[in-house]
Amino acid sequence: MLIQEGMSLKDKLKILTDAAKYDVACTSSGVERRGKKGYTGNAAEAGICHSFSADGRCISLLKILFTNQCIYDCKYCVNRRSNDVVRTAFTPDEVCSLTMEFYKRNYIEGLFLSSGVLHSPDYTMELIYQTLKKLRQTYRFNGYIHVKAIPGADPVLIEKTGFLADRMSVNLELPTSEGLKRLAPGKTRENILKPMRQIQTGIAVGKQEISVYRGHGRQFVPAGQSTQMIVGATPENDWQMVTVAEALYKNYGLKRVFYSAFVPVNTDASLPAPKGGPPLLREHRLYQADWLMRYYGFKAGELLSEERPNFNVLLDPKCDWALRHLEQFPVEVNRASYETLLRVPGIGVKSARRIVAARRKGSLDFEALKKIGVVLKRAVYFITCSGRQMYPVKIDEDHIASQIIGVERRNVWELENSGMYRQLSLFDDMKLEAAPTGEDICSVVTGVL
Ligand code: SF4
Repeated sequence: MLIQEGMSLKDKLKILTDAAKYDVACTSSGVERRGKKGYTGNAAEAGICHSFSADGRCISLLKILFTNQCIYDCKYCVNRRSNDVVRTAFTPDEVCSLTMEFYKRNYIEGLFLSSGVLHSPDYTMELIYQTLKKLRQTYRFNGYIHVKAIPGADPVLIEKTGFLADRMSVNLELPTSEGLKRLAPGKTRENILKPMRQIQTGIAVGKQEISVYRGHGRQFVPAGQSTQMIVGATPENDWQMVTVAEALYKNYGLKRVFYSAFVPVNTDASLPAPKGGPPLLREHRLYQADWLMRYYGFKAGELLSEERPNFNVLLDPKCDWALRHLEQFPVEVNRASYETLLRVPGIGVKSARRIVAARRKGSLDFEALKKIGVVLKRAVYFITCSGRQMYPVKIDEDHIASQIIGVERRNVWELENSGMYRQLSLFDDMKLEAAPTGEDICSVVTGVL
């Protein structure tokens, strides 16, 4: 398909924002930069891009593709070469003026720029670089920019772009090379991991030796890099997804791994047709597990294993872990270490810190824990205060699971899945789909588990 000529900016914007909506790797945390004289915008750690849509996706960046034209034919992608869709592309100046206009009107806090691959990875990366250069140097935009590195592009172009962006991401797309081969034949694992490694090295060098980059006037990718994996397009299980994510955090220093429930936008024999729509609950469980690995000290191998490869649909991964390790409970909140407190369902990172600080002044009781922010509804089964439970509770896996899941939800589940509940509380790989609860959604956004 050829790029349509003479399209209005408004029409381009409509097409290229719509085409970008499947990329979820777009939060803007991790950078703090004050406003600068003569520049527009700032990137403050607590002031930018912290609004989320109901399903936990960040919504305050101008999220666009440079072009929806693409030389590749990834089966799951609406912009793939073989699709008959209207093709268009911005010019660098168009992206700059849109960003500035939206920013000045307070619609956005920054820019998220991705792209289809136009002509070649180098050609596309050059366009992205020229856009960012103009935006920073000509338009003097000092706000947040998240940009994609195009796999296969010249490392020099990626490096130059990295000095203008706050965050960069290269999408892994699918957790295994077999998955890539099947659904994204134009991409290879190696092509994706190479720029990831380059960005990681650039960030590490930049941190150690800022002076090396004085000539550029900016730090290299100061907000770190992220990636995205599609959930449910290929047969990989949750265990494979979390082990890949864990390896990416450990070996590539990633700031975030994003998970995107597969949305079938194309009809293709090699794509699944998920019953009940995109696997949103699975996506939520992966986000919850991700919080546990990044902030709660959990290893992927504690949450799942080859023998138990999928998350429990009814319980969040931390509760599920606790129920399988009842021998480690109850925990005495007045004595337990910070790390042990973090493993208690209902105690998040903030409340664990507050407990450790507050108990220096004296013993804590349940009333104090409530004020600290502990979710007693969950924690009550797993803690004691000065040797006492809040009220006598049976420490039994089925009983606690049943109480935590909630009688109402369980009844609905039982009705819909005739007698599945008990089985699910014991076996967690049923691959059944359900909608995420309000509590699930909240934990994915706030990280409190
Ligand atoms: S490279 Fe693949 S996923 Fe990216 S725009 Fe092209 S077809 Fe879509």
